[in-house]
Amino acid sequence: MSDATLGVSLGVIADDFTGATDVASMLVRAGLRTVQLLGVPGGATPEMAQALARADAVVVALKSRTTPADQAVADSLAALRWLQAAGARQFYFKVCSTFDSTPAGNIGPVAEALLAALAGPGQGLGLRLGLVCPAFPENGRTVFRGHLFVGDELLSDSGMRHHPLTPMTDANLVRVMQAQCSGRVGLLRHDTVARGAEAIMARLAALQADGCRWVVADAVDNADLQGLAEGAAHLPLWVAGSGLALGLPAVLARRGWVRLDAAAALLDPLTGRSAVLAGSCSLATQAQVAHWTAAGRPAWQIDPAAAARGEPLAERALAWAARQTDTPLFYATTDAASLAATQAALGVARAGALVEQVLAQIARALVLAGAQRLVVAGGESSGAVVQALGVHTLRIGAAICPGVPWTQAVRAPGEPPLQLALKSGNFGGPDFFSQALAAA
Ligand code: ADP
Repeated sequence: MSDATLGVSLGVIADDFTGATDVASMLVRAGLRTVQLLGVPGGATPEMAQALARADAVVVALKSRTTPADQAVADSLAALRWLQAAGARQFYFKVCSTFDSTPAGNIGPVAEALLAALAGPGQGLGLRLGLVCPAFPENGRTVFRGHLFVGDELLSDSGMRHHPLTPMTDANLVRVMQAQCSGRVGLLRHDTVARGAEAIMARLAALQADGCRWVVADAVDNADLQGLAEGAAHLPLWVAGSGLALGLPAVLARRGWVRLDAAAALLDPLTGRSAVLAGSCSLATQAQVAHWTAAGRPAWQIDPAAAARGEPLAERALAWAARQTDTPLFYATTDAASLAATQAALGVARAGALVEQVLAQIARALVLAGAQRLVVAGGESSGAVVQALGVHTLRIGAAICPGVPWTQAVRAPGEPPLQLALKSGNFGGPDFFSQALAAA
């Protein structure tokens, strides 16, 4: 690892946890040593300060995508202030690549509050524009003439139109952003983006002169994102998916703010035991559990009804695990019909909370028993596990699959080392668990 200590220069505010990990993973891939914080820290422990001293980028993971807009704004401004105090000079508001939001927010209100805080008088920044570009071509998210495509479909024709919390029924991002903002929204069209950084800079200046405060940028491939990263590098705020993050490290390096580190993804080699915990019922996780059990690997099923009767499931699970010679999987994952039956019997929230509690107890007991590497499937499930383990800060390592890196928890002195692979339910192929264990 390089000992370059230029300090934190990039601050990212992510509106959800797995999105934070996704963008952090992109930054590491491009050579930035990256630390992820789970929420805005109350203060910095000595261990956190040490991790930050060796970081180029800090990603603060918030839960602000669907909270009330004023709460999302307050949390995001607190994250911004924290990042500024840590030394960050370039700012990135990471949103979903399908621009998950409603006319009430939260992308527009949060972005406007951040831009106002960054581009206020005395900040010395040239332009007072914010760039908006959720494109992530590697994952099929492209923007053309301001319209967001998911694969070959317009966003408004994709499954996102039925999302329970943030149904996306309009693919025109200029219109979607304008509905959430008071500042005027303009479009940076693909014909300009394709001409590269200078053309982009000239057009941005013209759009600002025209009264725009926000610019939605087209991007259909990585070359477009590279051009945008260079041509919009002087803007105070980027509102983007994780795609745009790929081009940013090289821009920061050219400015002399960071030194790219080929070993940015390197975590400590660990020899302790591993375990897999699955609390997601997504189709991808169902396939992963089925793949594991079909290979004859040890698997212990969490029964929510038994948990509701107060049976000591974590103790039983740990006693079973102690008899295994292979890595154990603990899973609550089940198909839609069985999930619906459990939810009808116990209630949706209670069933979820019971499962999360058992997963958290198992994780805590495993770590006490010497486990050093945990793979966790499910966004909420991951949240329950990191909370139970008292983890607030993660160093980001190499990606196992797109958007899912190994991470190393920053621990207090004397605590044994711990690495976590935290995946949102729908990520990864059927052999994800074995792939993750082999990759560490
Ligand atoms: P995903 O990332 O796929 O959304 P999450 O972990 O975020 O996964 O959410 C899954 C939710 O379903 C969790 O609250 C979990 O506790 C709950 N759950 C998992 N298995 C069961 C089950 N068998 N019965 C009821 N609830 C379950």
